[in-house]
Amino acid sequence: MSETTLRDRIARLAGSLFDRGLTFGSTGNISVRLEDGWLMTPTGSSMGNIDPARISRLDGKGNHIGGNEPTKEAFLHMAMYDRRPKAKAIVHLHSTYSVAVSCLHDIDPANVLPPLTAYYVMRIGTLPLIPYFAPGDMGLADAVGKMASEHHAVLLASHGPVVAGKSLEDAVYATEELEETAKLFLALQTLRTRPLTETQIADLNRRYPKDI
Ligand code: ZN
Repeated sequence: MSETTLRDRIARLAGSLFDRGLTFGSTGNISVRLEDGWLMTPTGSSMGNIDPARISRLDGKGNHIGGNEPTKEAFLHMAMYDRRPKAKAIVHLHSTYSVAVSCLHDIDPANVLPPLTAYYVMRIGTLPLIPYFAPGDMGLADAVGKMASEHHAVLLASHGPVVAGKSLEDAVYATEELEETAKLFLALQTLRTRPLTETQIADLNRRYPKDI
């Protein structure tokens, strides 16, 4: 796929996420890995109004070589790509329900959400919580990098999800699945639930290996 087409798809998907309230203000960012570098949404830009021609271009070493300055959260993406050579795209949002779950007191930091639906298991599976870091604290990159060896999706405490995919659409759909599952989880807080069993999860993982 050409770089021009990819730029258009990033802008279209970012706009779709913004229009549906999955991110707001100038929050959220998307990146795509190219043969020789990355495309990344620019710093200070609204996901609702991305100009494809101004999307940041990074070279194979992560240096900014074209378009506007990349998002200040570029280091999050690079920490994930560094550990996951098959990851082709990454989405990071400050999506409300995922952030809400990341603020709960009694969640398991090894795996934040229960396996409520098959699609959640297929697209996310296990979701570790990364401890809170102040914006700009590079300790966050180390923390994400360590988890990214084992997980293509992580949830940053009091912040939001970072999700890798084997394509741009794959990363977007997985992030949406996470957000919807966070919403379900919160809707079910006071009710008894029947999450998928270990056997059902193993069966899904056999039928639909993630390979990211
Ligand atoms: Zn963020």
